[in-house]
Amino acid sequence: MSKIACKCGNILHDNTDQIRYKGYIISDGEFFDLFDFADEMIESGSPCREDMAMTFRHNIGIGEKRIRLKELYQCPLCGRVLIEITPGQFCYFVPEGHEEKNLLDYRAGELIEFKQRLI
Ligand SMILES: [Zn+2]
Repeated sequence: MSKIACKCGNILHDNTDQIRYKGYIISDGEFFDLFDFADEMIESGSPCREDMAMTFRHNIGIGEKRIRLKELYQCPLCGRVLIEITPGQFCYFVPEGHEEKNLLDYRAGELIEFKQRLI
């Protein structure tokens, strides 16, 4: 997807990475499947970590993937939220009771270090 027209007339461009008004949503079922898939990769015992990482990445995303994400945009002009119905088709939600127009412009917190269990 390279351009999406918002109902307000603004054109949302999607032609690079780390777009401040773009995100992804995942269903609750897919969310837990994601953890199961990560466990499966970790527990596979494959000696090739790079292949495992690429397999993981290739199976998660938009479109026909094992773990499916949907694209989500928030128009920075009017604040509408656009959620993907099918690739290239969106439904629109108008904000109610707030003026936030940058809900997707955030970064993750600090890494929580893994602490190995002593058994
Ligand atoms: Zn808009």
